[in-house]
Amino acid sequence: MLLKKKILIGLTRKELESFAHEQSEPAFRGRQLYSWLYQKRATSFDEMSDLPATWRLKLKDVATIGTLGLARPANASRDGSRKFLFDLEDGLRVESVYLPDSPGETVCISSQVGCALGCHFCATAKMGLFRHLTASEIVLQVLEVEKHCSTRLTNIVFMGMGEPLHNYDQVLAALRLLTDENGIGLAARRITVSTVGLVPAIERWMKDSPPAKLAISCMRQRTPAAPS
Ligand code: SF4
Repeated sequence: MLLKKKILIGLTRKELESFAHEQSEPAFRGRQLYSWLYQKRATSFDEMSDLPATWRLKLKDVATIGTLGLARPANASRDGSRKFLFDLEDGLRVESVYLPDSPGETVCISSQVGCALGCHFCATAKMGLFRHLTASEIVLQVLEVEKHCSTRLTNIVFMGMGEPLHNYDQVLAALRLLTDENGIGLAARRITVSTVGLVPAIERWMKDSPPAKLAISCMRQRTPAAPS
């Protein structure tokens, strides 16, 4: 039976140090891996020139950097924006939208496949909720859009599919990866998480002070199950 490869994007620096340790490598190799994945945006192990060649070969057998396939070409519209439809591993799909000069290099990303809330004007509401996205899938939307648009993004808005605060833990983990100055390094003040107003999750947010701005838009919706 083939072993499932470990997806590295989505792992924290500590988790990559542990991963290196499991591979009989010293912890600092995990930190080098972290820098290649997030700071240098490497898309292959071959690029990681300061890792031992023997470990790079081994990594190809046990791990994968992580990627999202394009379900269809993301052609630019007249204003330069590009809508991406990404394939997830289980066959589900999510949307992200690249918005140049709006201001800066902005991407609008999704936090769930579908949504449990029922905002009356929203097409996603009609789908219902399929599942939460993982921190890996959230961060990968950013890295894939950068790759396809040959840019470094400066702004992120969580206004795609899903209610971000209904997927609190994975969104928070993604925010920490996106804003780590030793990693992807986006400024927290340039990330906006938009919620329709889940009060228990907002209370948690106030206590945790996640590295992002919270925008609350009040509109009519169903009450979803408690955030998980
Ligand atoms: S929370 Fe957002 S994605 Fe969910 S139904 Fe409302 S507008 Fe749509």
